[in-house]
Amino acid sequence: MRLWVGIDDTDSAKGMCTTYLALQIIRELEELGDRLIGFPRLIRLNPTIPYKTRGNGAVSFMIETENPRRVIDVVNEKILELAEMDEADPGAVFVDAERDEVLDTLSVFAMKAVRNVITVDEAFFIIGKYLLPHLKYKSGRGLIGSLAAVGLELHDYTFELLVYRKPERFGKKREYDRDSFFRADDETYPLTWDTVDRVNDVVVAVPNSPDPVLYGIRGDSIEAIRKATSLIVTEEKADDMIFITNQGTDMHIIPQEEVSELKDHQSYKLRGKVVERPYDIEGGHVFFVIETIFGDVTCAAFEPTKQFRRIIRMLEIGDEVEVFGSMKNETLNLEKINVVRLGEVYVEENPTCSVCGKRMESAGKGQGFRCRKCKTKTYSKVKRKVERELEEGFYEVPPSARRHLSKPLVRMNVEKKHIFH
Ligand code: ATP
Repeated sequence: MRLWVGIDDTDSAKGMCTTYLALQIIRELEELGDRLIGFPRLIRLNPTIPYKTRGNGAVSFMIETENPRRVIDVVNEKILELAEMDEADPGAVFVDAERDEVLDTLSVFAMKAVRNVITVDEAFFIIGKYLLPHLKYKSGRGLIGSLAAVGLELHDYTFELLVYRKPERFGKKREYDRDSFFRADDETYPLTWDTVDRVNDVVVAVPNSPDPVLYGIRGDSIEAIRKATSLIVTEEKADDMIFITNQGTDMHIIPQEEVSELKDHQSYKLRGKVVERPYDIEGGHVFFVIETIFGDVTCAAFEPTKQFRRIIRMLEIGDEVEVFGSMKNETLNLEKINVVRLGEVYVEENPTCSVCGKRMESAGKGQGFRCRKCKTKTYSKVKRKVERELEEGFYEVPPSARRHLSKPLVRMNVEKKHIFH
């Protein structure tokens, strides 16, 4: 039979990674004669969930087996052996791949898990209703992600090749040739993306956390990903695996037409007009306010978004924009912006003399302006239209500040893209 296996919440900030644990399960099952069908799936869920460790990722894969009970045993053994049980709340589910009714229900549940907040009880309800075999450890919160990872339909998708470290190297400094990542990017961008962040001189593909991942290459083409990997020089790897993912798809973004109010812990695409100019606060964070169909919304470009803030600071009252980001503390944390139409901005200045063309000077308080040389006089200041430095079009945060789910502009079929690369 073909069985979907979903797993989540096995790691903590101290170590482990659900993709690695899933790979250990897959390798063990392969040794026992079972067969992996297709790619394993790395599914990113709602990025605003407070109890995520890092990127709110869950994993699922389909296995062909004669012995589903043995699959459950192997999953249990590996979770008990490898999960960071002190801080994680693991869960795993097993779904017969032929149960369309269950998969349809899980597809709706999964979209909710990407865009909304779900309770563990909702996960237990589905498990109870369809009598799904599952493994629950501690609160079983990981069951939410496990069910979602099995159910999510990938209409848009990308790939990530994850390369893993040898267990004896876990927690140690990663050894790699920095330049080789830049070369790999040179050769394969834009079919791969977010390998490096050139404007900030950072290798994005290598994580800083103490988990088993050595690096990951993301992209739209498996061939380009493999080519990039062949150019990269690092410490010896233990294993690797290509995952199909919803990374870089904007699946978390809800268009404004689909909601009646804005809530924290959801991500939106909103249209509006700038009504309060950008201002900086301590720490280098930039805020501005737009008027939308839901009322005024404060938008923020936080310090880690680096160069993106320079664009935001150029906005002026009246500019029409489309903003993409997550609501947190009633503020939209920006991931992308489309400057739809620049407003007209004027400055007031002293008039010029109609005879000699020179700038006039004040003739005294309330007395208008005069030209000393020609003796001409005028009573009011003149308005001058300001040439805007900002161009219309799409802007995004640099790769080092990008959320897993955010769709990079290089993947977007839009005109006027301004890409930090
Ligand atoms: P990593 O990225 O390293 O795998 P993580 O950031 O994925 O770590 P988890 O350890 O998986 O973090 O913790 C996320 C938890 O949040 C899981 O228990 C998952 O089931 C749960 N969860 C995921 N999405 C939602 C949601 N939309 N509503 C409520 N809980 C969720």
